[in-house]
Amino acid sequence: MKSGSDTFDVAIIGAGVSGANIARRLSAYELDVALVEKEVDVSFGISKANSGIVHGGFHHNKQYLKARLEIQGAMMFDRLKAELDFPFERCGILVVALHEDEMRSVEQLYAQGVENGVIGIEMCSRERLLDLEPKLSQDAVGGLYAPGGGIVEPYRFVFSLVENAVKNGLELYTGFRVEGAKRQGEHWVVTAADGRAIKARYVVNAAGLFADEISRMFGAEDFHISGRKGEYYLLDRSTKAKPDRVVFPVPTSISKGMLIVPTVEGTVLIGPTATKVDDKNDFATTREQLDTILKSARTMVPSISENDVITSFAGIRSVIDEDFYIDISAKAPAFVQVAGIQSPGLTASPAIGEYVKDLLKKAGLKLVEKADWDPFVRKVPRARDLSPFELDELVKKDPAYGEIVCRCERVTEAEIVEAIRRGHTTLDGIKYFTRAQMGRCQGGFCTYKIIKIIMRETGMSYADITKRGEGSAVLRGEL
Ligand SMILES: Cc1cc2nc3c(=O)[nH]c(=O)nc-3n(C[C@H](O)[C@H](O)[C@H](O)COP(=O)(O)OP(=O)(O)OC[C@H]3O[C@@H](n4cnc5c(N)ncnc54)[C@H](O)[C@@H]3O)c2cc1C
Repeated sequence: MKSGSDTFDVAIIGAGVSGANIARRLSAYELDVALVEKEVDVSFGISKANSGIVHGGFHHNKQYLKARLEIQGAMMFDRLKAELDFPFERCGILVVALHEDEMRSVEQLYAQGVENGVIGIEMCSRERLLDLEPKLSQDAVGGLYAPGGGIVEPYRFVFSLVENAVKNGLELYTGFRVEGAKRQGEHWVVTAADGRAIKARYVVNAAGLFADEISRMFGAEDFHISGRKGEYYLLDRSTKAKPDRVVFPVPTSISKGMLIVPTVEGTVLIGPTATKVDDKNDFATTREQLDTILKSARTMVPSISENDVITSFAGIRSVIDEDFYIDISAKAPAFVQVAGIQSPGLTASPAIGEYVKDLLKKAGLKLVEKADWDPFVRKVPRARDLSPFELDELVKKDPAYGEIVCRCERVTEAEIVEAIRRGHTTLDGIKYFTRAQMGRCQGGFCTYKIIKIIMRETGMSYADITKRGEGSAVLRGEL
């Protein structure tokens, strides 16, 4: 943790996928950049709980900034994956019409996709659709196929972006809840709840659901972010209902509908719902919504079974109006707004990084490329991806690769240690980095082992171990 008296060219508030992409992009220039985050780890906001889809570029009209950034961002993922080693796959997206009258909307989506330049987009007959996805309901009448759409592990993406930016000189401040800002000469002084402070010439507001509060703190634009909750259910990797491609229904006016997502790591997500919430910290899930989701998902893939559900979670979309709000503030000097980043924010995020870099340049920030910028992270071998022979070789070098800690997801002690050494010292941070605790037993068998490894590696006491930081202690007594 930094002492907090440093002076920077740029301070970015919020280490979600928007802030992380901006930070990584700026790390390529001769700049001192700080990324500040109120949570104990990065990607603990909206960016941890979403559908994990790299969208196909046909859902939104190009008149919207979010559509233009979605199209550009989606194309950037292959290179980013090669550099940053996060799980990503272009499995393709299907939109399924279950009634003839839905085909008109499908045709409109297709026309929009063509207008947006989506490569390989295709109108599908019933036969073509069932050929592409045999698990679909026999009631399907036709649909759309966008082969370039994909799936990504959003938290791993953010972890890698931030790790790489730090490698290139970024200063990361976690547990830094911004609660005040004042102008001092040519700088902003940004203060945290715990008394730390940093100075920066430029500030980027990428605070997700709370970007409206940050904007007010800086005397910038007055807008309101409302929350729209999406509940999900996760199906075990053993489900027989896993489709090969992302399956969308025909969208409604407020959401893309409830989907069936084959996650990039082998499980299946169903959801999300779309309910307006007043409390931006309300991540509760309900039985009632589970029933709605199951019912909707089964209309498209009838073999989905409730017995395969292993857990539920919710994310909250941060909505200002129809579009993203990304601009130089007209009220506060040297202040850039990155707010209202609802879906497709994850897809658009690499392009948001580019766009904000250009806005900062327009606002007067001098950009000089670093000669020694390194775009790569060090890859972590994962036991579940290796053949027995490859694993044997690894165990010879590091016996901790021979100790399976999480049996459901086949995660070894070596991978947990690697997560801790890269700064992920909460149970959730380790879960997102390694997938340990994410399988059928949801940590029932491995949590105590992980706690012991954290204590051994960090010297933390059992009382300091948390699920996700302050207020989430997990033990009342020693193991
Ligand atoms: C249900 C759902 C499904 C979605 N599905 C998809 C999808 O499939 N594909 C897609 O492209 N997009 C999807 N999205 C959208 C995508 O998840 C978001 O656009 C994206 O995660 C927003 O990232 P962000 O960095 O702007 O916000 P966040 O991830 O919330 O990051 C903001 C950060 O700011 C921090 N912060 C807040 N206040 C302060 C403060 N005072 N001081 C310091 N830090 C602060 C927060 O803790 C947080 O970490 C979905 C969203 C939801 C909710």
